[in-house]
Amino acid sequence: MAATATTTSLEDVPSLDIMTELLRRFKCSSKPDKRLILIGPPGSGKGTQSPIIKDEYCLCHLATGDMLRAAVAAKTPLGIKAKETMEKGELVSDDLVVGIIDEAMKKPSCQKGFILDGFPRTVEQAQKLDEMLQKQGTKIDKVLDFAIDDSILEERITGRWIHAASGRSYHTKFAPPKVPGIDDVTGEPLMQRKDDTAEVLKSRLQAFHKQTKPVIDYYNTKGVVATLPAEKPPKEVTAEVQKVLSS
Ligand code: ADP
Ligand code: AMP
Repeated sequence: MAATATTTSLEDVPSLDIMTELLRRFKCSSKPDKRLILIGPPGSGKGTQSPIIKDEYCLCHLATGDMLRAAVAAKTPLGIKAKETMEKGELVSDDLVVGIIDEAMKKPSCQKGFILDGFPRTVEQAQKLDEMLQKQGTKIDKVLDFAIDDSILEERITGRWIHAASGRSYHTKFAPPKVPGIDDVTGEPLMQRKDDTAEVLKSRLQAFHKQTKPVIDYYNTKGVVATLPAEKPPKEVTAEVQKVLSS
């Protein structure tokens, strides 16, 4: 409900917005809490599936890539530190992203749990996350492993267009917007990410295989990993996600 973000008094919020939000909270109250991690190489579909899972289970969606890009665009000290590393397709420091996640998980929208998208990306980040959750007396319920062959990713990445403010992603061939270059929801222009090139994808994939794949092994030892066929069309992947999360 965007209206509340900028309004100080509830009296100024349209009744329909209040009713919609109340209905949403009522539906959410019967949903089980879930703490999820989405792991997969760039372009495997994590950002596409996240909003669907978020709405179904009333979770918050925390995508470290989106948060870092917002910091870069706003030229915050964090963004200035991260910019060059991101443009090269390398990982920013563990401390930097752990700090962001620690802060973000305190938001009221994360009350029923969260979807971590793009975090943790190293075993050290996973260990730090576990420590944070242990302190709260909680733990990760499921890790969704978006399994896909590297050869499919270049076409997905180079055809991706995003709505920067929301993180919504489109694809020129696989998920085109209603009007080319325009976000379906807000009518605002879409953009291509600076690191969504075939060249930078090579480093990003290298980082994934070397630093992030071990995170899947880390959670495998805890018995919480579900592997998804991420090469299938989006709707089929959604069906697989729903199967895993309802079991
Ligand atoms: P990630 O968040 O894992 O980097 P995205 O969800 O942004 O990946 O998907 C990358 C691109 O591929 C986007 O342009 C998206 O529209 C498209 N896409 C996502 N899932 C699929 C799919 N199952 N089949 C084909 N294209 C997809
Ligand atoms: P993404 O949007 O997930 O593809 O992330 C874009 C870029 O942000 C990555 O290539 C990294 O430079 C940086 N980044 C995002 N999440 C992390 C993370 N958990 N650890 C380190 N770097 C990250």
